[in-house]
Amino acid sequence: MDPVGVAAAPDAGPGPAWQSKCPWGTPNTTSISCSLADVMSEQLAKELQLEEENAAFPEVVAVAEGPFITGENIDTSSDLMLAQMLQMEFDREYDAQLRREEKKINGDSKVSISFENYRKVHPYDSDSSEDEVDWQDTRHDPYRADKPTTTPRRGFIGKGKDITTKHDEVVCGRKNTARMENFAPEFQVGDGIGMDLKLSNQVFNALKQHAYSEERRSARLHEKKEHSTAEKAVDPKTRLLLYKMVNAGMLETITGCISTGKESVVFHAYGGKSVTEDKVIPPECAIKVFKTTLNEFKNRDKYIKDDYRFKDRFSKLNPRKIIRMWAEKEMHNLTRMQNAGIPCPEVVILKKHVLVMSFIGQDQVPAPKLKDVTLSSEDMKKAYYQILNMMQQLYKECNLVHADLSEYNMLWHDGKVWLIDVSQSVEPTHPHGLEFLFRDCRNVSQFFQKGGVAEALNERELFNAVSDLNITADNEVDFQAEIEALEKMNEDHVQNHGKKLSMFSSDGDPPIYDE
Ligand code: ADP
Ligand code: MN
Repeated sequence: MDPVGVAAAPDAGPGPAWQSKCPWGTPNTTSISCSLADVMSEQLAKELQLEEENAAFPEVVAVAEGPFITGENIDTSSDLMLAQMLQMEFDREYDAQLRREEKKINGDSKVSISFENYRKVHPYDSDSSEDEVDWQDTRHDPYRADKPTTTPRRGFIGKGKDITTKHDEVVCGRKNTARMENFAPEFQVGDGIGMDLKLSNQVFNALKQHAYSEERRSARLHEKKEHSTAEKAVDPKTRLLLYKMVNAGMLETITGCISTGKESVVFHAYGGKSVTEDKVIPPECAIKVFKTTLNEFKNRDKYIKDDYRFKDRFSKLNPRKIIRMWAEKEMHNLTRMQNAGIPCPEVVILKKHVLVMSFIGQDQVPAPKLKDVTLSSEDMKKAYYQILNMMQQLYKECNLVHADLSEYNMLWHDGKVWLIDVSQSVEPTHPHGLEFLFRDCRNVSQFFQKGGVAEALNERELFNAVSDLNITADNEVDFQAEIEALEKMNEDHVQNHGKKLSMFSSDGDPPIYDE
């Protein structure tokens, strides 16, 4: 209890005489039931909350807006952390309440009951109690900043009015901020270190405690994660990310899972209200969550490692960032396709490894894949010509090769074919770009030839029709040899001139910054 509490004026029956004469009526004697300190901190809490709310989604860059997020600047780990901390706080209060109930019920009775099993042992906080020391008073500060700070032993500097003690809010706050630098490297502290940020002891202690338990948790979880299977839909961090999208009103509800693949899980959601004024969220959305388990992604290296758009970044990145790059790549590629007018999902937002796009389908029912739908021969022919056209647009206007094109990644919706799943798509100048294109052509030709489309070109004809490369070989082996020779020529050119051949148009993507 606070000694300076502003206690409520007791309600003293009918007011004094002056009240009835008052021309403005009776003043309202509202009772203030909490202390000044409480009011103050409530205000502070509100301010902090507002600040946090404002900061919560700027990293969610609506695609229409231009410069895309790259790497670090979309990091929301600190938001995640705050949410986890809030959860911890809630759990702690909940448990305290349980303890009080227990006490009340048991009283002095010899037989006691326990609510132990109802406790919320939160995963982020299961063993952090030993960290609950006042950080400021710890003598052997393992997180001490490299440069010793200047508060002398006597605990104050300056003279007279200008005296600054070690308890000075500003000095302390700055020191606390500097100390954050010494948290474990994987602990995201944002870029507050570069600013004149002053963390209060309370906040700093909470962060430190969280950094500790997070470190232990990640060590504990490491093994589990390595063995997690494709069935496990999403990890808690991803769930939190999704939850935040709903909480921010961007999505109305996430209704369920549409597909669980080796590398991604796709959910259906109803769109909410728009985040930015010029961006309308589609009524139904598909959320593609790229799996953060790394095993499945190892064999995809070849797509991204040699993609010069990502080359500079690849070597410097950890696997988690590489997974985010898949999501980023899908977003860039979809945007290019959208600009060329190719039917495909429209990007809504990208957040870390989660890509939200428009839903192809209706009323929660996704459009069927081409492999699952039976088309009339007329529609089949129509679909074929549409795909031929789209492959040419993709190559010529988007400067892309799908690289996983088949009846599995084409949806039939509204009487036409929609292309999806373009995270692995590459530019034709990718060292294996033409091989990927040839594979795509083979899938498409075979599907339509089997499907009875007499007009369907064979894979070699289709390859030439898409690329205009006019390879003349009349058998597959020679054809492939010529493709590889072309790729090699291009690579040699890169070696000698440090640039891609000019026959390929320039990249329309925004610059990618090193991290
Ligand atoms: P992957 O094959 O790598 O797991 P996809 O992007 O192909 O990922 O998505 C998997 C499945 O999810 C698709 O086959 C399709 O059924 C469904 N799907 C993906 N995106 C959408 C979308 N925008 N609208 C409707 N369904 C989608
Ligand atoms: Mn797919």
